[in-house]
Amino acid sequence: TTITNHMPTKELQALDAAHHMHPFTTQTELAARGARVITRADGVFITDSEGNEILDGMAGLWCVNIGYGRDRLADVAARQMRELPYYNTFFMTTHVPVIALSQKLAELAPGDLNHVFYAGSGSEANDTNIRMVRTYWAQKGKPTKKVIISRKNAYHGSTLGGASLGGMSGMHAQGGLPIPDIHHIDQPNWWSEGGDKTPEEFGLERAQQLEQAILELGEDRVAAFIAEPIQGAGGVIVPPATYWPEIQRICDKYEILLIADEVICGFGRTGNWFGSQTVGIRPHIMTIAKGLSSGYQPIGGSIVCDEVAEVIGACEFNHGYTYNGHPVASAVALENLNIMQEEGIVDHVRDVIAPYLKTKWEALVDHPLVGEANIVGMMGSIALTPHKESRATFAADAGTVGYMCRERCFANNLVMRHVGDRMIISPPLVMTTAEADMLIERATKSLDECY
Ligand code: PLP
Repeated sequence: TTITNHMPTKELQALDAAHHMHPFTTQTELAARGARVITRADGVFITDSEGNEILDGMAGLWCVNIGYGRDRLADVAARQMRELPYYNTFFMTTHVPVIALSQKLAELAPGDLNHVFYAGSGSEANDTNIRMVRTYWAQKGKPTKKVIISRKNAYHGSTLGGASLGGMSGMHAQGGLPIPDIHHIDQPNWWSEGGDKTPEEFGLERAQQLEQAILELGEDRVAAFIAEPIQGAGGVIVPPATYWPEIQRICDKYEILLIADEVICGFGRTGNWFGSQTVGIRPHIMTIAKGLSSGYQPIGGSIVCDEVAEVIGACEFNHGYTYNGHPVASAVALENLNIMQEEGIVDHVRDVIAPYLKTKWEALVDHPLVGEANIVGMMGSIALTPHKESRATFAADAGTVGYMCRERCFANNLVMRHVGDRMIISPPLVMTTAEADMLIERATKSLDECY
C-alpha cells in the first residue's frame, strides 16, 4: 500500500512507531500515544493530519527563519537538481552554487571571517571545528594545545564530537562521552545558579571560570573556547551583560581561539546577522547551520577567519564529508539569504517584531507561575516557579510542570518547547504583530491551565 496524507491518522501513527526510531524520544511512550503527524505548513503555521492549524513558536527546530511555503526555494532546488544535482568539492573541483554561497557568507560575516568549510549539519560542523583548531595549533608548532573548553548545559550537537562539546549530562551518560580533552565550566544561568549575587557579579564570576580553567589546565594545553552567544537548547539562557566582555578579554589575553556556535543565533535570530554581533564578541570561527537555509535543505559549516584559514590552508586538512557544499543545499541557502536581504528580515526583527514581542513576552512575568522572562531578538524563555522571590524550581518533580505546559500549548495549537522548568520560543523571523499577539494569547491560556 502507498502511504499518503489521506490515510487515517491512527494508521500513520502505528506505522511510524513500528518502523521509525525518533530522536530524543522514548519510543515506547511514542508508540502508546502516537506522534502528531504534520502534513503541510505555510508562513508561521503548521497543519496536522487532523486539520489543526498550529502556530509554530519554535520555527521547526529553531531553523525556519523565513517561514514555510517559499516557492522560490522550491524552484531553485528543482532547477539545481536538473542542472547539477551533485558534485563534490574534494580533489580540486568546485561548482558555482558553492562559490556563490561562500562569497555571500564572507560578505555577511563580520570582520575577517572570510572562509567557509561546509558540513551537512551543525553537529558535523562542530566536529570539523574540533579537528580544525587542534590542527591549527599543531601546524603552529604547539601540538599540546588540544583541550577545548566548553560549558555545562551547552548544546553543540549529537555526533560524538558535538555531544562531547555540549554539556548535557543526559547525553554524556549514554555512549561513553565526552571524548578526551574537552573541559566544561559552569554556565551563566543567573536564575537557577546565581544565588544571592547580582546578575552582574555572577556573570563576571562565571566568565572568570574560563581563566581559572586555563590556568589549571595550563596555557600550553588549551586550544579553544566554544559557546553559543545565547544558549538555545539549554533553555534560552541569556547571560548577564558582564559575561561576554570578560570572556573576550580572557580569550585575547591567553590567545585562545574563540568559537561562536551560531547554529541558532545566526541569520537574524537575535536581531543582527549573527549573535556574536549582538553580544559584542570577535570569534575566530563561527558554527552555522539551521537558519542558513531556513531548514529547507540540510547544510551547515564553519566560517573561519583569515589567519586560521591560512594556517590550515598550508597543509592538507584530512577531513571532509560527501555532502560538503552540496550544490542543491548551497543554491537553496543562497536563495534564502537573498530573500532575507531583499525583504529586510533582519531589520524586521530588530526594528519591528522583536521589540513588539519583547514587551508582551516580558509582561508574562506577571503570571503567578512565571519567575523570569527573557528574550533577545526572536529567542525567549520563561522560568516556571512555585515561588518567585526565592527563585525556587519545582524540584521534587523537575520538568513535570514544563512538560504539562508544553502539552497544554500543543492542545491550544501552539508549539512551545520545555527544557526542565523553562518554556522556550524561537518563532519564524517573519512573524507579524498579529501572530505575536496570537502566540502570547495561546501561551497565557496554557499557563492559566497549568496553574
Ligand atoms: N549547535 C547548536 C547551538 C545547536 O542548537 C544545534 C542544534 O540544535 C547544533 C549545534 C547541532 O546542529 P544539528 O542538529 O544541525 O546537527
